[in-house]
Amino acid sequence: MTDLVSRLAAIVGAANLLSAEHDVAPFVTDYRGRYHGRPLAVALPASTAEVAALVRLCAAENIAIVPQGGNTSTCGAATPDGSGRQLVIALRRLNRLRAVDVPGRAITVEAGMTLAAVQQAAADAGCLFPLSLASEGSCQIGGNLATNAGGLAVLRYGTMRELALGLEVVLPDGTVLDALSSLRKDTSGLDVKQLFIGAEGQLGLITAATLKLYPQPSARATAMLAVGSAEQAIATLTALQDAFGDRLTTFEMMSEACQRLLDKYQPGKVPFFSPWALLVELSDSGAPATLQAAFENWLAHAANLLDGVLAHSEAERTRLWQLREDMSETQKRDGASIKHDIGVPSSAIPAFLAECDAALQAAFPGVRIIAFGHAGDGNLHYNISYTRPGNAALFDDEDAVNAIVYEHVYRHRGTLAAEHGVGQLKGHWLARYKDPAALALMRSVKRAIDPQGIMNPGKWL
Ligand SMILES: Cc1cc2nc3c(=O)[nH]c(=O)nc-3n(C[C@H](O)[C@H](O)[C@H](O)COP(=O)(O)OP(=O)(O)OC[C@H]3O[C@@H](n4cnc5c(N)ncnc54)[C@H](O)[C@@H]3O)c2cc1C
Repeated sequence: MTDLVSRLAAIVGAANLLSAEHDVAPFVTDYRGRYHGRPLAVALPASTAEVAALVRLCAAENIAIVPQGGNTSTCGAATPDGSGRQLVIALRRLNRLRAVDVPGRAITVEAGMTLAAVQQAAADAGCLFPLSLASEGSCQIGGNLATNAGGLAVLRYGTMRELALGLEVVLPDGTVLDALSSLRKDTSGLDVKQLFIGAEGQLGLITAATLKLYPQPSARATAMLAVGSAEQAIATLTALQDAFGDRLTTFEMMSEACQRLLDKYQPGKVPFFSPWALLVELSDSGAPATLQAAFENWLAHAANLLDGVLAHSEAERTRLWQLREDMSETQKRDGASIKHDIGVPSSAIPAFLAECDAALQAAFPGVRIIAFGHAGDGNLHYNISYTRPGNAALFDDEDAVNAIVYEHVYRHRGTLAAEHGVGQLKGHWLARYKDPAALALMRSVKRAIDPQGIMNPGKWL
């Protein structure tokens, strides 16, 4: 192994091959601290050629590879196992902007650029890269692609799958796949880049991507609204889409329990929009006053609304967004919970919530359900905890809680992973709920592309 470590170091330079325990520590535990590993080493390559050389050496020595971006996925997808025989390849030094094509509305970046850096590079060119997540300062484009990340503007712009035009990928034998196209139309066979989007690093290592750019919106109108039920929330979504079409950019939903939790840590500072708060944002390329007036007019005549605040300044807009963005951190402060990032068709959200809440309350009386998220695209955080101090024994019930939640999700033709991926956390559940033909197809693809099984083993494929 010492010889192998030296040969790996010769590829990236000794300073960029970490093997001491304190050096590898930031790379071996997942974001939530649930999974811990012990890698052979952590390599920090700075070019596609270095990544390819690392992968060729690993393939020759039958060493498994764990690709890692910002390590913000919350299901152990980027965490090595405890064998001491897996190489973590962390992409943060592979972080250059390769090209911006404003008329072609495309940007080409290396996989280790953070999402925030890509947004900034787009803004510097007078454009918008619309993917937006609370983890954008840390997560990287490679990780965003590998998890098919979504976020706060999926309703208008789609997930990474819709935003990716081309990819450069190092395959498990070290071959570099150059599918770095910026074409919008290409009918010359299968779109092979799609294989690597959402694959959580199990088919290859993404080294660069060409992504779609959009014009910067010149106008935004933002409101926090209160509605009386989940049914009314979805009726409001439909009404907003009818009125504003794709100018509806964000439609987030937060239950009263979420607002009480925020209030616990910011007493007296959280305005309540009960029982359901909706964060709605429109964006457009016209004059700001025109959009604001149109929204104001719509709000004045809208059915179902109990209350609402329309932001009149950037400071007010930030304050409304802050309530939504504080949710993840506030939950973390409040202790452990059994987390789900499920997705159901948005029209099924009311029925899912009513049925699943009732089933959980029957099985675990007094359970606290924190439901919030990207209701416009059906992706909800649905997090379960007990009110007893310290959440004692909470995780003993994790399988029973998950079984209830996923049963209801799949009854509504939903998914158990609409945001954070599958990773180590949900593989056995995927095997239970995913269509067997789809799973068999995925496994054949894995065998065809990675016959040695060296790409991110121990995860769901
Ligand atoms: C506060 C918070 C808010 C979040 N909000 C959202 C949200 O709104 N929407 C959403 O979709 N997600 C969200 N996430 C989850 C997470 O940020 C995303 O999954 C993100 O896309 C992961 O990127 P990363 O660079 O951190 O990837 P990592 O966590 O490092 O890796 C994730 C997976 O991708 C693989 N991978 C990483 N880089 C590469 C590469 N270059 N090539 C191949 N495989 C690779 C890893 O092996 C792993 O399987 C949130 C997370 C946090 C902590």
